[in-house]
Parts: sequence; structure tokens; C-alpha cells
Amino acid sequence: MKRVLVTGGAGFLGSHLCDRLLNDGNEVICLDNFFTGSKQNIIHLLGNPYFELARHDVTMPYFAEVDEIYNLACPASPIHYQLNPIKTVKTSVMGAINMLGLAKRVKATVLQASTSEVYGDPEVHPQPEGYWGNVNPIGPRSCYDEGKRCAETLFVNYHQQNGVNIKILRIFNTYGPRMSQNDGRVVSNFIIQALKNQDITIFGDGSQTRSFMYVTDLIEGMISMMATPNNITGPINIGNPVEFTMKELAEKVVNLTGSKSKLVYHDLPKDDPTQRKPDIALAQVHLNGWQPTVNLNEGLQKTIAYFQNQIKG
Ligand code: NAD
Ligand code: UDP
Repeated sequence: MKRVLVTGGAGFLGSHLCDRLLNDGNEVICLDNFFTGSKQNIIHLLGNPYFELARHDVTMPYFAEVDEIYNLACPASPIHYQLNPIKTVKTSVMGAINMLGLAKRVKATVLQASTSEVYGDPEVHPQPEGYWGNVNPIGPRSCYDEGKRCAETLFVNYHQQNGVNIKILRIFNTYGPRMSQNDGRVVSNFIIQALKNQDITIFGDGSQTRSFMYVTDLIEGMISMMATPNNITGPINIGNPVEFTMKELAEKVVNLTGSKSKLVYHDLPKDDPTQRKPDIALAQVHLNGWQPTVNLNEGLQKTIAYFQNQIKG
């Protein structure tokens, strides 16, 4: 039995990861400050003797004897990470330093939940790991993008300078049950608007693209990444390379929900990336034959069913 620390464990992705790690027979410490996460996401785990909840902020040092650390603590939705941009940078950078320091002390392997945002508004398409990106260092998204880029730098430096075992995964847009209703990201926004027959808010003309991965595919990839040999440090992209425009996504959600909602167009937020699609060749080589298995229709249906229940209360 391994003891595993999941920072951001009460969030959307972290809570699914806690479920999976416990199912695999591990002991899990879930660390969270509940900024965007919720007890509701982990309430079913609170009675499990192998699950421990620590209310803690990752910007402060944390001590525990653990074998593995998954560092997910960081708000991921633009509206939330832009609320307090200084705190977002601190969470990424000081959180990385604290988790890397812990990993160094207890000789744990530490996995960083990095992001496709390190590519910014990419001029290379699809994005391979060797592409350095096109990021505005002083724009509204920079607290997140540059925070995550600096975290990658710290991970690589702790590996090279101190021999810490690191794994960097660059996660592309992921969706599924347990996104919060006020998360603000596109999939949850569109589904909730459609279920309530409200206008579907498309930002810009809806021609910008994203590639959406269902949460179970990501969790499988995270577990496989942690299990790779020590010489595989990443960064490795993880995502579903099937690309959709936001207009296509809106139409799909309206069809699948049978909604009466209309599509309405709002201003495009500044620095909103125009296109995004992962090159997943490295993941397919290194992650135990990993590939996405849930297509967008199937994943949306499961997510719609989840939000239907949530809205009913
Ligand atoms: P989320 O907002 O649901 O989860 C983030 C969790 O971190 C929340 O539980 C929040 O309360 C916690 N947190 C935030 N700041 C903290 C702090 N200072 N100390 C302790 N806990 C803190 O978002 P998510 O989608 O589950 O994302 C999880 C991680 O994966 C993030 O690091 C995010 O950057 C990364 N990621 C997610 C996606 C995606 O599409 N979902 C894509 C790329 C990267
Ligand atoms: N978006 C949209 N309507 C919304 C929310 C988001 O059209 O209600 C767009 C947003 O402008 C972006 C895309 O959907 O082009 C994905 O946005 P999200 O916030 O989910 O993630 P990110 O921009 O970080 O990929």
C-alpha cells in the first residue's frame, strides 16, 4: 500500500483521482483549501479509513510521509484564476516549491498537473511538447500560464539539481461530472445553460477550437504517468486530439439536451487562444498504450446526466 498526497484533491479532477487511488488500494491524503473545490466532491470518501482530508493552503509548507504526490492545487477556470491573480501565481509557484521540497525530503515521486496553457495562443498546430509556446507574460491569463510555466521550470530544476523524481503532464481541456456549477468553463456553462433553456453564451464568433478529454481518460493517463520509469519525466501532453469549434460544441449540447436555448454571441475575452489540439505521440509511446477512449458525445451525455441531477437538487 502506498501513501499518496493529492493537492487540490477536493476539486473536479482531484476528487476523481482520489477515488481511483483508493480503489487501487492506496492510502490517500487529500489536501485542499476549498477555494474552488468542495466537500461535496469527496463526501463519499470521508468515512473511508484510508482517506484523510487536510484543509491546508499549498502556498504554506506541508509535512507528511508520503510515497507519491500529485500536485493539482490551483484554480483552473479563467474566471476563478483571474479573481486574485497574485494568489494564482503564488499557488502555482510556491505550491510547486513546497511540494518539490516535500518530495525531496521524503524521496517521493511528484507529478505536476501542468497545462496546455503553457503553449498560450499557439502558432504551431497541433502542439507537440517541443513547442515553446506563445504566451503573453502580462495579460489577463498570464498569472495562470506563467505560474504553470514557472512550476515546470522548478520541477525540472529540482530534478536536475536535487535528483527529485518528477513527472510533468500537460493536460488539455478536460470535462466531466463534478465540475462545479459556477466553474465558468465552457462545457459546464453550455450544459447548465441548455438544461435551464437559457441563452448559450458563445464568446467571440465561436470559431475558436478546443480538444476535449473526458475525465476518466485523464485519470488513467495520470496513473500511467506516475508509474513510468524514473527517466521519463515529461513534459508529456495528455488530451483528446479531436478538435471542435465552440459553435460546434454549443450545437452538440443543444441537440443532446433537447434544449430550447438560443446561441448568443459575447465579446471574446482578451488573449483567448484561437486553437488548441494536442500532439499525443509521446503519451502513446510512454503511457502504457494510453489513448483516449471516450468520445465527446458519450462524455457529454454522462456530464449532462450529472448536471441534471445536480440541478434537481
Ligand atoms: P478545480 O478548480 O476544480 O480544482 C482545483 C483544486 O485546487 C480545488 O479543489 C481548489 O480548492 C484547490 N486549490 C486551489 N488553490 C489552492 C491552494 N492555494 N491550496 C490548496 N488547494 C488549492 O480545477 P480542476 O479542473 O480539477 O484542475 C485541477 C488541476 O489540473 C489544476 O492544477 C489545473 O491547472 C490542472 N489542469 C486542469 C485542466 C482541466 O481542463 N480541467 C487542464 C489543464 C490543467
Ligand atoms: N467560452 C465560451 N462561452 C463560455 C465559456 C467559455 O464561448 O460560456 C469559450 C472561451 O472563450 C474559450 C473556450 O470556450 O474560447 C474554452 O474556454 P474555457 O474557459 O473552458 O477554457 P480555456 O479557455 O482555458 O481553454
